[in-house]
Parts: sequence; structure tokens; C-alpha cells
Amino acid sequence: MQGEKYLFVVSGPSGTGKDTVVSQLLKKHPEVHKTVSATTRAMREGETNGVSYYFLTKDQFRSELEAGGIVEHTCYCENYYGTLRSEVERYMMEQTPVILVIEVEGAGNIKRLYPDSTTIFVLPPDMKELEHRLRCRGTESEEVIEKRLRRAETEIALSADYDEHVVNDVVDTCADQIYSIIQDRLVRD
Ligand code: 5GP
Repeated sequence: MQGEKYLFVVSGPSGTGKDTVVSQLLKKHPEVHKTVSATTRAMREGETNGVSYYFLTKDQFRSELEAGGIVEHTCYCENYYGTLRSEVERYMMEQTPVILVIEVEGAGNIKRLYPDSTTIFVLPPDMKELEHRLRCRGTESEEVIEKRLRRAETEIALSADYDEHVVNDVVDTCADQIYSIIQDRLVRD
């Protein structure tokens, strides 16, 4: 499909800091955008509906799915997350680089749907640091932290399929690396 090369998928285990890295990149390079996904998980403190996510009930999510408004979705730690068709198609049509911050299953589905997109995996410096970051965030219960750590191991094992890999040691450096990947891709056909 026309405009696929403008799609950049960023994944990484929960707590790896990928959202902070992407926020930093968007701040420095306002020509790059980020899609807003739909989710059924509860809103966290500091999040805004329509900015962080579109927060939907499970029924609303299912209706959107049946109507074909969601191009890929997954169930992650008992909640649904999905990429809205309207979001990706808008940026592809506008030929504007856009980042989708989604987990590995979704990334694989996006790559199959849009083979000219670029998948980028953000790795933590190591697993100890990942656990530390997840606990310091203080937004999840112990049970959820344990689930997310187990899921992190699975995700890292699947990261070999990604086009690019970056390590989030220093946020600014990692954001610059992702921006270079975007620039390199945009000059290629
Ligand atoms: P969180 O609850 O921490 O915001 O997100 C949990 C996981 O869901 C993260 O890995 C995040 O990247 C992923 N995610 C967010 N939106 C989507 C989406 O639209 N599709 C998929 N497949 N994963 C998503």
C-alpha cells in the first residue's frame, strides 16, 4: 500500500522506557507523529483520553473491531489494545512519518499487513534494570509487575524478527538512534 514506508513500529518490554524515548523523539522532531491506540485498560494517573489512548469499554472495543476500524489488536495482560485504521491510513496518505508503539504480536501483524514498514525493538540494558524501572514506576500492582516481567522475557525472545534493535541506556541517545533509523528509511524507496 502507498505510504507504508512512513510507518515505524516501536516495541519493547514494559518498563524498558520506550514511551519516554518516543516522547523525547517527538519533542525534538515535531514532524514525526505517534498513533493513538484504543485500549480497554484503566486510565493511569496523568493519562488523557484521546491523547495517551482512546479508552474504550470491552463492548466498545468489540464493536470497533467488528466494524473493521481496528487493523491489529492483541490481548495484553487481560486487556485489549488495538491500532485504529483511521490513524495509520491518515499518516500514510499524508506521507508523514508516524510511530506505532505496540507489543510484539501487533508488530508482527503490522509488518505482515504493511511489509514496507520498519520494526524497531527497544531493549533494556539488562533484566535487572528492567525490573527496577517497572517497580520504580509505581503504577502497577505486584501481580501485574510479575506478569509484565514474564511477558518481557517472551518479547525479548521474539525480538530477533525486528528490522532494527536499540538499547535504551540513555534516553536521548536512544531517541537519536531511532530518529536516524527513520531518516535513513525515508530517503530509501
Ligand atoms: P501499557 O498498558 O503499558 O500502556 O501498554 C501495554 C503494552 O501494549 C505495551 O507494550 C504497548 O506498546 C502495547 N500497545 C499499546 N497500544 C497497542 C496497540 O494498539 N496494539 C498492540 N498490539 N499493542 C499495543
